[in-house]
Amino acid sequence: MTRVFNFSAGPAVLPEPVLRTAADEMLDWHGSGMSVMEMSHRGKEFIAIHAQAESLIRELLNIPANYKVLFLQGGAIGQNAFVPMNLLRGRSGADYVNTGEWSKKSIKEAKKYCNVNVAATAEASHFTHVPQQAEWKLDPNAAYVHICSNETIGGVEYHWTPDTGDVPLVADMSSNILSRPVDVSRYGLIYAGAQKNMGPSGLTIVIVRDDLIGHALPITPSVFDLKQQADNDSMLNTPPTYAIYIAGLVFNWLKARGGLAAMEVHNRAKAALLYDYLNSTSFYASPVAPDDRSLMNVPFKLRDESLDEAFLKGAQSRGMLQLKGHRSVGGMRASIYNAMPIEGVKALVQYMKEFEASHG
Ligand code: PMP
Repeated sequence: MTRVFNFSAGPAVLPEPVLRTAADEMLDWHGSGMSVMEMSHRGKEFIAIHAQAESLIRELLNIPANYKVLFLQGGAIGQNAFVPMNLLRGRSGADYVNTGEWSKKSIKEAKKYCNVNVAATAEASHFTHVPQQAEWKLDPNAAYVHICSNETIGGVEYHWTPDTGDVPLVADMSSNILSRPVDVSRYGLIYAGAQKNMGPSGLTIVIVRDDLIGHALPITPSVFDLKQQADNDSMLNTPPTYAIYIAGLVFNWLKARGGLAAMEVHNRAKAALLYDYLNSTSFYASPVAPDDRSLMNVPFKLRDESLDEAFLKGAQSRGMLQLKGHRSVGGMRASIYNAMPIEGVKALVQYMKEFEASHG
């Protein structure tokens, strides 16, 4: 068996021990005689798997008791509609900060449901930085303030938490959730697709403060209504059972590795290997402002774009895959989520050095 170093932005690399456990348990989960995929979501086995996953994510993120954790479907893109439908609470508008492609998608969708005030935008820098809060023009009557805490395509990450006073802060944390500790109490609602740092696609985690539940617009589909889902333990309809099971295994793996504080140390060390090298050479360049560089998604460009194809081919032949940048920005992107071992990043930097030496 050969495992590659998979730098995909998502669906992305999963921890090998998790995949091994899933393989071992594929035909017979804990003596049940069934695969998790075959279990009723109402049966005691799956109820236990679900409860364990919730309890582990609560422990990892230190989620306060007055927050619900929901395991939903529809992806982060679904949340772009779900959030305004549920959080407007009689208000007419919401604030959005635009830091790149994923913020733009959130803004476009929210405009179907409310007035969107773009409180700040990084467009002028081609989305290579996070606007400082002093520049934000927040609307005091906004129902909430929405940010994307890590722009997966642009590689721009908040390394600070905005202060929005009494206005709930909402964050799309799809690509940096569980990469480091977060003070959940600073947020009204956090959402994330699972397929980067938590498990397979098809599962969306929503962490929401109790008082924000129960205000959905009448048009809200039931499966998107926070209250209906919260009242039914995320089982208003059949939940993505297998994805929840794998996410639970990932949470367990994170706990065994020392939790999120330990992951942060690990993730900082990995990112530093890449950024330190990018800072030391003019053959490659990082487009992102140094203070706002993502620990999870590292976009970089070759000075001479005509070498892109050769770079990717050479990487592939060394077992390093999915390094091509998103089509909207070009260049390269290395996604180095929790499950990417430091050996993968070392191998990448070593290859980049060799490529520079032979083509520089
Ligand atoms: N937001 C961010 C920050 C993302 O990275 C992605 C997926 N790449 C999405 C939203 C969309 O997620 P999904 O495909 O799960 O709807």
